[in-house]
Amino acid sequence: MSFTGKSVIVTGASSGIGAATGILFAEQGANVVIVGRNETKLNAVAQKLPKNAKSLILKADVTTDAKKIIDETVNKFGRIDILVNNAGFAKYGSLTDGKFLEAYDTIMATNVRAVAELTMLALPHLTKTKGNIINISSIAAMAVPLDGRFLAYSVSKAALDHFTRGAALEFASKGIRVNSVNPGPVATDFLDNMGVDISVDVIKEMTALKRVSTPEEIGELILYLAGDKAQGITGSIMLTDNGCLLK
Ligand code: NDP
Repeated sequence: MSFTGKSVIVTGASSGIGAATGILFAEQGANVVIVGRNETKLNAVAQKLPKNAKSLILKADVTTDAKKIIDETVNKFGRIDILVNNAGFAKYGSLTDGKFLEAYDTIMATNVRAVAELTMLALPHLTKTKGNIINISSIAAMAVPLDGRFLAYSVSKAALDHFTRGAALEFASKGIRVNSVNPGPVATDFLDNMGVDISVDVIKEMTALKRVSTPEEIGELILYLAGDKAQGITGSIMLTDNGCLLK
């Protein structure tokens, strides 16, 4: 699958799923925009890009710098073909511990509001290229959390799935597709960033296949959805969870 000459924005590409996805797109010839806040991690990803890759390493916060992300992409590459809204995080806060609203406000700002803002700003450019959008959601969108401290995160990803469907319907007449990839457990910095210490073996036991995914296998699904072979797929919520929801 070649993406030569296509311009791809990947938010949250300084680690995990986003980093793997940005590298995979670059390996397929895309001009990649690698967005994140942590400069050390961004530089580490830059080192892993193919030597001849056309890239823009962009230190930016999706909650405050959406316009900068779109403007700098267009300034550098002249077009936007694919927007991967991957930046996201979780934070504990339940209805009974009094921390729900604090978690809700910060999580929604990144996991949902920033996605909406980037989508609207990218729209004129995606209209020109008949491009597409991939939102990175989660199995958390589909199951009521067993641990109430995950409720705000689950609500954000459920909202994101509905956003994906609504945008897909609204943009279909423009030839723009919008899809979602919903992973189960993936080996990334996600839990570290939450300050949660759970062993990989415990997480594996939560899945039917007794495994966690690599960021690269999630990236491969993102590339498939972004490519022409997926021309008939829009508004889809693609689960890739090692059978977690079967249990
Ligand atoms: P990581 O913590 O490794 O990556 C998250 C990325 O998001 C980092 O690059 C981080 O970069 C970036 N990010 C967070 N907030 C912002 C912000 N405000 N502005 C810009 N970048 C931001 O975790 P994952 O790779 O696992 O997470 C990627 C996506 O996958 C998330 O949306 C997550 O919800 C989802 N997901 C993850 C699962 C898992 O098991 N790992 C399971 C299901 C879904 P920086 O700190 O540099 O800003």
